Amino acid sequence: MIQAENALLPARMINEYVYCPRLFYYEHVEGIFVHNLETIEGSHVHTRVDGKEDDLPPAAELLETDRPANRRSITLSSEQYGIIAKLDLLETDGSLVTPVDYKRGEPCKAEDGSIEAWPADRAQLTVQVLILRDNGYVCEEAIVYYARTKQRVRFTIDEQLVAETLQQIDAARRLANATEIPPPLEDSPKCPRCSLVGVCLPEETRRMSNVRSISRQQMILFEVEPNRTANLSNQPGDEDVRRLVPSRDDLKPLYLNQPGLYVGCSRKVLQVKDKKKIVQQVRLNEVCQVNLFGSIQVTTQAIQAICTEEIPIAYFSMGGWFYGVTHGLGVKNIYLRREQFRWADVPSFCLRIARALVAGKIKNQRTMLQRNHIEPPKVALVHLKCMQEDAETAFSQESLLGIEGNAARVYFQNLQGMIKVNDPEDSPTDSGADDLFTFEFNSRNRRPPKDPINALLSLAYSILAKDLTIISQTVGFDPFLGFYHQPRYGRAPLALDLMEPFRPLIADSAVLSAINTKMIRPEHFIRAGNAVALTPDGRKAFFRAYEQRMDTLVTHPLFGYRVNYRRILEIQCRLLARVLTGETTNYPVFVTR
Ligand code: SF4
Repeated sequence: MIQAENALLPARMINEYVYCPRLFYYEHVEGIFVHNLETIEGSHVHTRVDGKEDDLPPAAELLETDRPANRRSITLSSEQYGIIAKLDLLETDGSLVTPVDYKRGEPCKAEDGSIEAWPADRAQLTVQVLILRDNGYVCEEAIVYYARTKQRVRFTIDEQLVAETLQQIDAARRLANATEIPPPLEDSPKCPRCSLVGVCLPEETRRMSNVRSISRQQMILFEVEPNRTANLSNQPGDEDVRRLVPSRDDLKPLYLNQPGLYVGCSRKVLQVKDKKKIVQQVRLNEVCQVNLFGSIQVTTQAIQAICTEEIPIAYFSMGGWFYGVTHGLGVKNIYLRREQFRWADVPSFCLRIARALVAGKIKNQRTMLQRNHIEPPKVALVHLKCMQEDAETAFSQESLLGIEGNAARVYFQNLQGMIKVNDPEDSPTDSGADDLFTFEFNSRNRRPPKDPINALLSLAYSILAKDLTIISQTVGFDPFLGFYHQPRYGRAPLALDLMEPFRPLIADSAVLSAINTKMIRPEHFIRAGNAVALTPDGRKAFFRAYEQRMDTLVTHPLFGYRVNYRRILEIQCRLLARVLTGETTNYPVFVTR
């Protein structure tokens, strides 16, 4: 295997290392890069200097009598130090050269009020100078241009700076070959500005890793200790953590569910056509997913544009069966997947995760009944509480399956009590066919669903499974290897694992709200044989209800901040990743208070 130690380290990565070693690890080792406002502004600042590379004469050809000149976008490397840099600008004056780097922000203010370059920028420029010197150029100073204040900060590259930078290069190279990611910074002002804050989750990881000193070997012993699983009261620290991620995303999923639609793309705008007439236009930078139901055609150009933006395209049958995703190259890091495969082979670990997921799901089902049932059924609530406790201490995956099935039976037997539209004034309307649909629910049935509520539940679970498939892929998991659900063709067991606690909170809740608020009405259903399905208008109305639920702000029980459900799904997925990579030991299943 080719080791990273043989690869040239980019000067930009030394900047990241000095800013935060964990950021360096994410970007350089795991290949994760996320844009935020600051990085977009930074790219914009660089458009002035990026572009065609100017020629740079060899050092020996620069004469002391040469007139000052500027050369842009110069790429140079040094085998001696194992580093490479793209210089924004190189000012030459006679035989003397000075690199200039463009930064979007403002310079650092020293205590005496003077301005200076930030340590990370100083290190990056020193790397450039080392490369220039190694290529024979005479270079004594470097300049950082800060665009916000339009100031140039010039500094001398002295021996001390060179020695510090060589140490930093060395440390960065060692980290590039390490197998463990450094811990997050503590309460740092850098984190809110970091583009990877949503990936890193510094505050959450610190909160969850307070028990990290337990070694991996001890962790395995810890895992088989039944009373500790799913016991959220064991989580360290009670105080809320800083919310550094936005509570919700501005990007929205796009749903297309009318057969015969045709999707093209022009200048990063998706154009949805019906019989050659444009019926909808959506900017790619406003969309986080494209969901296609039934026979909708997408041009190759549109697929390329969507994949380039790393937006997933999810495919469903007309009946709502989720059967695939197209996405770009995706997460390049395989480290998490390697850990996922390793831990999936450890039965005690799988059982620990499965117990927590099932116990969390049963607790959330109980909470749903308590909150929404017209007269919360006391016996059912007691049963569910007992089954939650049984799940926490189940001795095998098989027994857990039995507990989960029994809990589902109790929960669904009482689901009707949460439907509040079957009053006389809500009498069903004629669908236009021979059928009269009501919102009567007797038991869960599927493939095909035989009544409106089962049709809605199946669609809701299908969309939720799709969301968790996409999120788990984004985080770096293989969604086709779970810890509770077993691999089966065409299903994503990890997504099914992760969705267990969220079935009642997101899917069932969206169904109940769609019915109870009359967003979905009897005329939104059709019957084909013994199957009941939604009409295109019905699906559209349900997508609205589902997205409303996903956008609902909810307080995270451990961190105390409010974010929407879509954000919670990603946070939970990343917290599971932390457990697999050994950063934390407990997976805190999401349960509502
Ligand atoms: S969020 Fe903070 S700890 Fe995490 S990578 Fe960014 S700067 Fe480092």
